[in-house]
Amino acid sequence: MRKVERLPQPESLKNHSARWTKELMDEINKQGTYAKVADSFKTKYRQDDVKETLEKMYNQHCCYCESVVGTSSYGRIEHLRPKSLPQFYQYAFEWDNLHWCCEVCNTSYKKANWDFENPILDPAKDDIDKFLKLNLTTGKYEEIGNNKRARTTIEHTGMNRESLVKARRRWIILFLKGYKVHQKCGNEKEFCDSWDKLKEDMDYPSLYDKLIEFVK
Ligand SMILES: [Zn+2]
Repeated sequence: MRKVERLPQPESLKNHSARWTKELMDEINKQGTYAKVADSFKTKYRQDDVKETLEKMYNQHCCYCESVVGTSSYGRIEHLRPKSLPQFYQYAFEWDNLHWCCEVCNTSYKKANWDFENPILDPAKDDIDKFLKLNLTTGKYEEIGNNKRARTTIEHTGMNRESLVKARRRWIILFLKGYKVHQKCGNEKEFCDSWDKLKEDMDYPSLYDKLIEFVK
């Protein structure tokens, strides 16, 4: 997970989110439960400009695991505060609550998990590197200073699941071996520069920032 800058609100939300929210809340009251409300009321955030802006904001990466979204999984519009919890019905079309996510993080891990006392970190609001650190030996994220929100983030997003840890470890080993070879030839700076240029097209871009910082 890494910090991103939130882009300006897409036009569709700017123009319609207040009305959509009112219609949704009215329908929930009418039906008595959220479960009985038709999807057409709940999914109006699925607009092309919302999807395009979120993809751009996250540079195609999942907000949680940082995998490139779209190669092996579809991208999903993610509600950080779960839209199915009564406390958050009114945030279904709220721009500040929307993020970009891979299918695995969205449907198998984050789901409707929420800790009201220590909510997960928000990549567009929180300074992620002050809460979480990546251990370059184990490939696992660790909370800094036993921070509870960092712990919730690790638990609710599954960011230390075996498949991700193994993938990170592979890239760490590859990078460090490559660095050593280039260091012997005296062109380690060019090596780091090329990774820096490539990182946004790869999974886990913030991993390479940390590796480049580590070998400096
Ligand atoms: Zn993901």
